[in-house]
Amino acid sequence: MKLNAGGSTHVGLVRDHNEDAFLLDGPLFVVADGMGGHNGGEVASGTTIETFHGALKGLAVDPNPVTRLAEVAQAANRAVFSKASGDPELARMGTTLTAAMARDGRLFIAHVGDSRCYRLRDGRLDQLTVDHTLVGEFVREGRITEEQARTHPQRSIITRALGVEPAVPIDSITLEVASGDRFLICSDGLYGMLYDDEILSYLTSVPEPQQCAEQLIDAANRAGGEDNTTVIVVDILDANGNGRKPIIEDEWPTDQMKAVGGDPTASGPVAVAAPMPRVA
Ligand code: MN
Repeated sequence: MKLNAGGSTHVGLVRDHNEDAFLLDGPLFVVADGMGGHNGGEVASGTTIETFHGALKGLAVDPNPVTRLAEVAQAANRAVFSKASGDPELARMGTTLTAAMARDGRLFIAHVGDSRCYRLRDGRLDQLTVDHTLVGEFVREGRITEEQARTHPQRSIITRALGVEPAVPIDSITLEVASGDRFLICSDGLYGMLYDDEILSYLTSVPEPQQCAEQLIDAANRAGGEDNTTVIVVDILDANGNGRKPIIEDEWPTDQMKAVGGDPTASGPVAVAAPMPRVA
């Protein structure tokens, strides 16, 4: 598999520090958006990134990468929870996690919280991950529209976060990739400021991933920059290059995507420390 990727993070125009963190290392791409008092948010997202960085070598060779990715996410959960339990100033800290690894003609994703992974294919942008938010549940239940969710007073309430409980349900996704696919992994600072069609216009018009990530962040800041913004753009240049064996078709469901979600109501709502209004 041949990839080209770029990524960046920015504090934005309103917050005084950046609680987002990201990892862009070979085939592994991670975005974590931390939350919590004092420096808890930064500790939670930073600890998560460190855990994934330390696990990279094992992930790259594990025969069952989607399971291993979820295990690393649980290890990160335990590491954050343990730090939070040992320091009153870090109590209740947590972080979102959207981790994606490209290997063997597939993309493997582990996901908790309201950061997102999207796929651009044939000019169409699809959100691959589900937002673990109260308003996300309202939208899925048909109680409010996507548009109403953008300005809903409870839009900052996330229903699942890493590090808040001793264990956390992890959404696991496996999908086959095609040459020419472009993946976007981002924190809510991006999609809170830009509509999907604005995000799509950058993804389709800026060919180089690093430049595209930086231009998306600039656009979020021009729209108000009300939150920290993190963006990773991954291009699949050759899905089955480098002499990899072909994809075994019967190993995965034919609908390409396999969701092994936990119970989204398993842990209680977690309030983001400083809920910020997001301008539509
Ligand atoms: Mn955020």
